[in-house]
Amino acid sequence: MPMDEPASPPVPPERTACPFCCEAIRPTARKCPHCQEYLDPELAAQARPGPRTSPLAIVSFVLALVSPLFMCMSAPAAVVIGIAALRDRTAKAGRGMAVTGIILGALYTLVLLLIVAIFLLAFAALSLPPPSTGSAAEPLF
Ligand SMILES: [Zn+2]
Repeated sequence: MPMDEPASPPVPPERTACPFCCEAIRPTARKCPHCQEYLDPELAAQARPGPRTSPLAIVSFVLALVSPLFMCMSAPAAVVIGIAALRDRTAKAGRGMAVTGIILGALYTLVLLLIVAIFLLAFAALSLPPPSTGSAAEPLF
């Protein structure tokens, strides 16, 4: 008596094997009832939680975005936090936000430095006596 059957039980024609757990499932199944894996790519994309976005990246991005509202005061923090976000290896997503935070933060930091420089120059110009023929290093008092 010939034994043509394979060692494993054959999958019935109306059944197919789950690519994840090899259990027999309906070919039209969108989700495996055995291992709960999604077989439909669209469903899988919806069901699987996206890669964890680094909260630091979000903070950096937001700080850089709102820094013009605060005279760019938060821009240096955005750069520092953005760099910290890039170093966070557990976060799979948010690198783009972190990089944007760093670049925007760096730009606004330059603006902040410019503002500080202008303030300092204005303050110096106000506190300096009118230009005289004497040396510039002359003490004020
Ligand atoms: Zn399965």
